[in-house]
Amino acid sequence: MRRKVIAGNWKMNMLPNEAIEFIQSLAEKVKHSEHEVVLCVPYTDIFYSVLNTQGTNIKIGAQNMHWEEKGAYTGEVSAEMLKAVGVEYVIIGHSERRQYFAETDETVNKKLKKALSVGLKPIVCVGETLEQREQGITIQVITGQTEKALDGLEPEQVEKVIIAYEPIWAIGTGKTATKEDANDAVRQIRKKIAEKYGQNTANGVIIQYGGSVKAANAKELFEMSDIDGGLVGGASLKVEEFSNIVNYN
Ligand code: PEP
Repeated sequence: MRRKVIAGNWKMNMLPNEAIEFIQSLAEKVKHSEHEVVLCVPYTDIFYSVLNTQGTNIKIGAQNMHWEEKGAYTGEVSAEMLKAVGVEYVIIGHSERRQYFAETDETVNKKLKKALSVGLKPIVCVGETLEQREQGITIQVITGQTEKALDGLEPEQVEKVIIAYEPIWAIGTGKTATKEDANDAVRQIRKKIAEKYGQNTANGVIIQYGGSVKAANAKELFEMSDIDGGLVGGASLKVEEFSNIVNYN
């Protein structure tokens, strides 16, 4: 039985004092959750967030990382650095990074390999644009992105990867995929993983849905057969809303 992972993506929001206040309040509200609760915070909040989640069931993630260990990469942060400050999860290949920061399937693959090598749990984002959906190539796009992200990994490494299916047209727009469409997309991703790495491996991979998840739709989405929780953007900035998403059941 796969565990649900419910991860907030704060993007470029939240000053350290706001992060601390949020975490202290959230910890109380989700302390009985059976789900894995993760907050992917800006780099500048990591130290305070890790300190303030000690003794709670909230895990801290980053939103990006570089694939090299160290060197002349001004402005970048390595997987080793994240690990050293207590980060457990890292988002890789979010569509905003692909769109605004030239992230490609190749860099996603490099980052994924690096994250796994230091023991970070990667959340790899895949998703189609509205244009691709209208062209009827959604499944081709998302299974292709998944294949390229996982290229060169062994089945036991693939099992440690979390995939977030995030249709780009649903991110931050208030538009959500129907639960049937989201579940079908997730199932197709799992099928592709099964073809390449075996059914056992595919059955173990956590695949989330992301795209305008809120308290009002979390239950119907997360109760679908193949959807293992969610990656939550806007709604993870409000403690009441996010805790209601975590406590959807
Ligand atoms: C995201 O940024 O990963 C996301 C899903 O955003 P939102 O929930 O705001 O659509």
